Amino acid sequence: MTDTPTRRWLRPAVLAREAYAVADARGLIKLDAMENPYPWPQALREAWSERLREVALNRYPDAGAVELKRHLRAALALPEELGLVLGNGSDELIQLLAIAFAGEGRVVLTPAPSFVMYRMVADALGMRYVPVPLRADFSLDGAAVLAAIEREQPALVFLAYPNNPTGNLFERALIDAIVAATPGLVVIDEAYHPFAGETLLELACTHANVAVLRTLSKMGFAALRLGLLLAQPRWTREFEKLRLPYNINSLSQVSASFALEHAEMFAAQAREIVAERGRVGAALAALPAVAVYPSAANFLVLRLPASVRDVAAGLRRRGVLVKDLHGADALTAHCLRVSIGTPAENDAFLAALRELL
Ligand code: PMP
Repeated sequence: MTDTPTRRWLRPAVLAREAYAVADARGLIKLDAMENPYPWPQALREAWSERLREVALNRYPDAGAVELKRHLRAALALPEELGLVLGNGSDELIQLLAIAFAGEGRVVLTPAPSFVMYRMVADALGMRYVPVPLRADFSLDGAAVLAAIEREQPALVFLAYPNNPTGNLFERALIDAIVAATPGLVVIDEAYHPFAGETLLELACTHANVAVLRTLSKMGFAALRLGLLLAQPRWTREFEKLRLPYNINSLSQVSASFALEHAEMFAAQAREIVAERGRVGAALAALPAVAVYPSAANFLVLRLPASVRDVAAGLRRRGVLVKDLHGADALTAHCLRVSIGTPAENDAFLAALRELL
């Protein structure tokens, strides 16, 4: 075999992986990535442009994002006693956690299926990734998780609450048991918090081994790339040492501060999305042989009687992009994940699916 420079110098973990694939969504109704579907009203766009015009593009951003952090703490009612680290999306914070904990024999443990980034960063940093299968109804298998924690002594446990791609909230008593049993840090990823009506943020206040992740992406600002990590200051002080300076660019800082002044509008949109989730879920459940799983997030998972690949391709031909979960994990065989869009987008999805089934 030829010893190319990539083969010679890159770590095997890099050579072995695939780049994260993002579907081309041009011209399609985009129900694949759990974004907020509502465009901003014109008046808001104009007020925002005014604000952007003042940004000094020749200067580095505020490295501490002091003003943005003040806005975030107020708008999201974040407990004062918790430290706050900002990331370029919560993706970056997941990576930062792995960088902080990586080491010989270190384990990342998560339920499976869960958010793919946990595995990606563990693999990239040479940590051992230990998935613990959920039950068929997507609930946590408490005995299996606790046995795996006992056996593996994980440095990091990631629990998405609600979980992606399954949409459900794990049982609170089991989460308490996991926190009590975990020797390392339990990271509760609340990316879908705006639609869940529940938070475990208080656990980060009362437990030294709990951190909480949040993001502005699902709330309505996916383009800004802004994630939050909350934990006791003994952790966040250390994580700050690894955060790259200026990781939150000035346009994002100013835009997010501006958007948070209108937090009530985005909260109202989240309530509309939750109402639509109920309507779309009921319409899907009425289709013969389609199973819809309960969701506390801004998406639904459905199991189809037909080939998911064919249905996803058929939806795409009809202008609707969804996520095919078949093949990603045994538990989501024959499953599609569909984000909740505007009522018109949801109707287009439902009409296309009815035609295909
Ligand atoms: N956590 C979970 C559970 C997610 O589903 C996602 C996005 N799909 C993220 C984190 C990452 O979000 P972002 O990087 O946009 O903040």
